Amino acid sequence: TTPQAPDTTLTCRGEQFRLYLTDEAIQERLQEIGDAISEEYEGRTPILVSVLNGAFMVTADLMRYITIDCEIDFMKLSSYGDEKVSSGEVTELKRIDANLEGRDVIVVEDIVDTGLSMQFILNMMESHRPASLRTVTLLHKPTSNDTNVPLDYVGFNIPDLFVIGYGLDYGQIARNLPDIYILDEE
Ligand code: 5GP
Ligand code: MG
Ligand code: MG
Repeated sequence: TTPQAPDTTLTCRGEQFRLYLTDEAIQERLQEIGDAISEEYEGRTPILVSVLNGAFMVTADLMRYITIDCEIDFMKLSSYGDEKVSSGEVTELKRIDANLEGRDVIVVEDIVDTGLSMQFILNMMESHRPASLRTVTLLHKPTSNDTNVPLDYVGFNIPDLFVIGYGLDYGQIARNLPDIYILDEE
């Protein structure tokens, strides 16, 4: 059988989205970031701090492209509820279990929009006194990042439009899509 091209449009919760980043493009970029991390952290054992729920998929894939020893732990935040725009309020729903003191911490996020969540996470991580602290985000909306939060590894800069798929939800659905879709404004 011939492989099917992914559908270029998709309706989710009554709204129209179009294909924006394919699984192949995402994997290719994660391989590059994994290579960079493996090189830069050679001889150390960094700990990836994955921010649930959205970042579970990017963390799992990125980790497989890291060829040095590394650890993983999870934290969970809530800011968006089920809306398409940020509530501007960040709360911690699950704390990190690992002791991060003196560790090389790499925070892994799915997307940085206003930057409020990442700023909140970085403040929290700093209080654990890690040896080093860096950030990975698969997606970044530069025009929306009012906080100018520092990002070390960015997969893709994207326009200030709502995206779904590859871990990113719309009212908790669509996380299972292998590709990323963007809201079609037309
Ligand atoms: P921020 O605090 O940077 O405004 O937003 C961070 C969180 O909001 C992300 O981790 C993600 O869960 C959610 N978010 C921001 N933009 C989008 C988007 O375009 N699509 C989806 N599905 N979630 C988003
Ligand atoms: Mg997130
Ligand atoms: Mg969400």
